[in-house]
Amino acid sequence: METPDPSLFTHNSSLITHHLLLEKKMVDLIPSSDTVMEILKRTGAFREGHFVYPNGKHSPHYFQMPLAFRYYDTARVLAVGLSRKFRVDRDISSQLPKVAVISPSSGGIPVAFGVRDALSAEQIYWAEQEGGNRMFRQYVNKGEVNPCIIVDDIIRSGHAIEETLELVKTLGSKVIGCGAIVRFTSAPDKLGDVPIRSLVEFDAHMYDSGDACSDCKKEAPLEHVRF
Ligand SMILES: [Zn+2]
Repeated sequence: METPDPSLFTHNSSLITHHLLLEKKMVDLIPSSDTVMEILKRTGAFREGHFVYPNGKHSPHYFQMPLAFRYYDTARVLAVGLSRKFRVDRDISSQLPKVAVISPSSGGIPVAFGVRDALSAEQIYWAEQEGGNRMFRQYVNKGEVNPCIIVDDIIRSGHAIEETLELVKTLGSKVIGCGAIVRFTSAPDKLGDVPIRSLVEFDAHMYDSGDACSDCKKEAPLEHVRF
């Protein structure tokens, strides 16, 4: 048998140490709002410009959160950061792992999986719009759903999480936590009596039409966006 090159071991173990330190650092910290915004900009999930939404509203900001969740490292930093906001809540931590993490829509699914992993929560569900109603993608019997944490990538109006709260109630469960990576400050900060936790509180500027839009007044080039 050949004698392995000892430098290989040294190299490997320092890599592992480095990796563990990095992981510890990520898990220990809740990233600051500035750090999260930097991640969102770097991944293209947050853009500044002059945008027009399908409903005709104008805005100098555009979020497309799944762009931040396509990378393992950034997805993990964001989901673990959000999970720590739930972990410090005694009502939640005392019920773990018998908790369900729920996404109101497809955009929240990567967040829900990341938070579920970080909390070692037992269940995961995700909902979608079907014929104008929000319902779970999975078949669920009444009484099967653990106490729930609703998570989304971004909370703009709060309608999606409010509909999900009603869905959870009809299934005989209750919501013990709610959060998102980004919450618009114009959205509610509570869901029922549960506080909504987020890594970023964003003061969004939305204009109902071009007439009120400051970028239109400056004749800044327009970009039409899908959501
Ligand atoms: Zn405009």
